[in-house]
Amino acid sequence: MTDLTDLIQPLVALRRDIHAHPELGFQEHRTAARIAAELRSAGIEVHEGIGGTGLVGVLRVGDGSRTLGLRADMDALPIDEQTNLAWSSTSPGCFHGCGHDGHVAMLLGAAQYLARDPGFSGTLHFIFQPAEEGLGGARQMIEDGLFERFPCDRVYALHNWPGLPAGTISTRAGAIMGAADKFVIMIEGRGGHAALPQDTPDALLAAAGLVQQLNTIVARDVPPSAAAVLSVTEIQGGHAHNVIPAEVRVGGTVRTFDPLVQDRIEERMRQILRGIEASFEVRATLVYDRYYPATINDAAAAEDALEIAATVARAERAPEPAATSEDFSFMLQQRPGAYIWLGQGQGDNPAPLHNPRYDFNDDVLETGIRLHIALARHWLR
Ligand SMILES: [Zn+2]
Ligand SMILES: [Zn+2]
Repeated sequence: MTDLTDLIQPLVALRRDIHAHPELGFQEHRTAARIAAELRSAGIEVHEGIGGTGLVGVLRVGDGSRTLGLRADMDALPIDEQTNLAWSSTSPGCFHGCGHDGHVAMLLGAAQYLARDPGFSGTLHFIFQPAEEGLGGARQMIEDGLFERFPCDRVYALHNWPGLPAGTISTRAGAIMGAADKFVIMIEGRGGHAALPQDTPDALLAAAGLVQQLNTIVARDVPPSAAAVLSVTEIQGGHAHNVIPAEVRVGGTVRTFDPLVQDRIEERMRQILRGIEASFEVRATLVYDRYYPATINDAAAAEDALEIAATVARAERAPEPAATSEDFSFMLQQRPGAYIWLGQGQGDNPAPLHNPRYDFNDDVLETGIRLHIALARHWLR
């Protein structure tokens, strides 16, 4: 069995150092420099400044033609940490509340180990991605030529998962995380005297009708076997008791797991708006922003991952996707691969992801490193 003893302690220290010095999306300058230095000292070729602060380590071994990408995200969240740990954030309002510090440490550990004992033939790309938390760092790296410059037949990403027992590895074929969309609808009337409604289209009444109708889409247009959420979360309009407002803004979010369902919901929203325009004599415009697509695992890549995971830890097939979203989805649109959860356990720290008391569980670093190594040796065998 692969011996990682000498690697783990320095990696725990590195993980805690990154935790103490968190950086928000596209500002991961210190983190990226630290990673680049560690990769170089392991003898790995480093390419920096890909998609802003992103970087890629390249390890070429033998004459194998296969290529693999392993991805870790590097950014922190705009939250004040409340853990009171010795390695707490030294930057107020910035905190590794999603465990990306742990993801960096696990991928670096695998890079360090494989650089001295590869056991594979082919090209392995260690992808350190900026700005996962809502800013689409993965898309930035892709637009910056990630997969042209660093070809990957397959890509994998590992994310810690507090709901699973420590060290348990889980994934599934197909959707594993949802698509996150947001919408803003502007309803424009003309504005006028509240006592003369016959002269003024009522944008507020149109908004009320619209909210009711939007809430029928998931119930009536989405098959019962598919999961979807449409939530209207904002209505803004009107300032005075005697004025019919000229415009009203309606906003909300849509979450789906299947691009066809996502298309259908947007299409129905547009049809309903045409009806609202005709019924209320207003103009209604929709801005529909698909900011993160659903994270869809390639079936073969996910099945391989489960099989490989079972050789290093407890592996279990995830029964259903999570409604959260993830920008590794952009990489999975480009290349077959899978997104994999690594259990964090509850232990002394039951805090979920994005909670001010969350901290990555260093006890699972070794399992994550072993999984990365096994994935590389399997695909590049
Ligand atoms: Zn997160
Ligand atoms: Zn995360």
